Amino acid sequence: MQYLRINFIFSGWICLILGTGVVFSDIDGMLSVVGTTMSLFGLALILLGISSKQQPMTSKQISTWRPSKEDLDDSLTSNFDDKKVKYRIDTTLDEPIQTSILCGNCSEITIVESTKPKAFKCPICELQLWEEEE
Ligand SMILES: [Zn+2]
Repeated sequence: MQYLRINFIFSGWICLILGTGVVFSDIDGMLSVVGTTMSLFGLALILLGISSKQQPMTSKQISTWRPSKEDLDDSLTSNFDDKKVKYRIDTTLDEPIQTSILCGNCSEITIVESTKPKAFKCPICELQLWEEEE
């Protein structure tokens, strides 16, 4: 999808530049009509490419979305038992409410069928990721 969008904008630019070139090199001739059409077509392509970027994610895409392991860059870090633990939590906004917890220690993603739990221990490496005081 990303690639397609860039393609749209890129070919739009080519049409626009070529079309404008034709218009200016042949002002009185028949070609100016073709050039204008090309320019307009190019503009339409660019607009199409740009507007497709703003398309919201479908609810299906949101509910099946999972953080990738590279997302740990903006993850949270907690100091638990003097050990630095990195983790990342993402909770869905729509029903069914799910929280995905990415363990920074073993990169395991655990899905919890609720909002963020008060405490969480990674089932794979058994590391306590966090524990909130009441
Ligand atoms: Zn783990």
